[in-house]
Amino acid sequence: MEAAGDQHIFRSEYPAVPVPDNVTLPEFVLQDAELYAEKVAFVDAFTGKSYTYSDVVRDTRRFAKALRSLGLRKKHVVVVMLPNVAEYGIVALGIMAAGGVFSGINPASHPSEIKKQVEAADAKLIVTDDVNYEKVKPLQLPVIVLSDASAAHLEGPINFHDLLTAADRATTSLLPDHHVSQDDLCALPFSSGTTGTSKGVMLSHANVVANLCSTLFSVGPELIGQVTTLGLIPFFHIYGITGICCATLRNKGKVVVMGRYDLRTFLNALIAHEVTFAPVVPPIILALVKNPIVEEFDLKRLKLAAVMTAAAPLAPELLTAFESKFPGVQVQEAYGLTEHSCITLSHGNPAKGQRIAKKNSVGFILPNLEVKFIDPETGVSLPKNTHGEICVRSKCVMMGYFNNEDETTRTIDKEGWLHTGDIGYIDDDGDIFIVDRIKELIKYKGFQVAPAELEAILLTHPSVDDAAVVPLPDEEAGEVPAAWVVKVKGGKESEEDMVKFVASNVAHYKKVRVVQFVESIPKSPSGKIMRRLIKDQMLQRIRSS
Ligand code: AMP
Repeated sequence: MEAAGDQHIFRSEYPAVPVPDNVTLPEFVLQDAELYAEKVAFVDAFTGKSYTYSDVVRDTRRFAKALRSLGLRKKHVVVVMLPNVAEYGIVALGIMAAGGVFSGINPASHPSEIKKQVEAADAKLIVTDDVNYEKVKPLQLPVIVLSDASAAHLEGPINFHDLLTAADRATTSLLPDHHVSQDDLCALPFSSGTTGTSKGVMLSHANVVANLCSTLFSVGPELIGQVTTLGLIPFFHIYGITGICCATLRNKGKVVVMGRYDLRTFLNALIAHEVTFAPVVPPIILALVKNPIVEEFDLKRLKLAAVMTAAAPLAPELLTAFESKFPGVQVQEAYGLTEHSCITLSHGNPAKGQRIAKKNSVGFILPNLEVKFIDPETGVSLPKNTHGEICVRSKCVMMGYFNNEDETTRTIDKEGWLHTGDIGYIDDDGDIFIVDRIKELIKYKGFQVAPAELEAILLTHPSVDDAAVVPLPDEEAGEVPAAWVVKVKGGKESEEDMVKFVASNVAHYKKVRVVQFVESIPKSPSGKIMRRLIKDQMLQRIRSS
């Protein structure tokens, strides 16, 4: 497992898996779709609307053709601001099949956040729904609205379904300049990485295809066409679009799409659609363990074989409580990040003779990947059982941050190692444990919140002289943003005013939940905010108040 040489480099205990180098992501996931033509690929848990594999293939082609006739060309970015809907996969794959680049954004985003992403991505087009249309209208870009007829009252946007119908009549061919190769970009999700504000993560078709090959190494032929996956994790996030949509399509399973979360609909969907696999985040595990609503359901009717939890740490006590309440449901913790095209560490499939890593481990190294743990100060790689920053090298490592050479070279070193900003270790059996995070990221229910972004907003307030934002632990959300604020002399605002000020400028999940006024923000000699110290002192203050 450990390679020879002067570096402690760890590789998968499982043999390498082949990765096709001549197919684009849409071709890869829709390969053999004709054999499953009548099988449902996507069904909406709320409306029952569904798309079979032949619908998905037909509409992906139609949408790609329509986009081309609207002028979309290779490398053009399309920002997609939709909740999870049955058409989401078609929209994303259609953009990619047209040679464009899919860039998802949370529909809860504040108009200023949307503007930022649209401008940073140099987007040429927006896809949204009629509920969110007003938010994107001022951006003066062509907008495609996904709506069942009700968009007729909106002036300006192009109706998605009309566009598909028109595509059948259009003579536009997908050529010229349409040849899409694996090295072309297919997605531009946004992530703050290890520091600063959100940046576009450039993922090529090759990156994502490679990630799917590694992740799906555990899927045996007996599972092809058999898995029903819950599509609750937002599809604008890499975990949703690749880990759920693309992975399920590749295996010819069914995605039960949920556009919003409420526990009753969640449990109803699991039972009614006989969901076998549910990728979730730790707060949902918490609800399943603690919320009394669960008692209203006959859990014996569940067909759930496994839940996968990723995106944020899962508390060990929560895992134990879940296992005793849902015996027979396997919990697979997985670890991944946008910059690595999604899943990076995970478990195997016992039916294929593969092993499940130890409880509370996030899994082992997937095939084709190399991992090392380095001393963050010296960069020296560390042996087993020693805490260090996790670095990963593989074909799944992003091509870089869009228009941001500096952050790219800070994150991917000359030898191709992606520095994750997470601290972990590998044990004697090859199981990996995450123990800390040294990057600036806050994870609220699995959603990224960049402290630098909230600090910049606080600093626009006339009464704020300086500010620092850190994560505080929270049982329900995992972490919540909290701020230390230095007021200008004579500043009259209360802590509650500051909370409200941030809330009026960001999506709801980025709100700072706690503000404490201080005399100064502690900084290192190089000017870096001493976040760890602030977090500890904040917690002390809260405990002693
Ligand atoms: P994102 O790019 O939004 O997927 O965020 C990736 C980050 O989420 C990682 O770098 C980790 O900090 C965190 N993360 C993902 N999975 C886990 C996990 N299983 N346990 C702890 N942290 C995780």
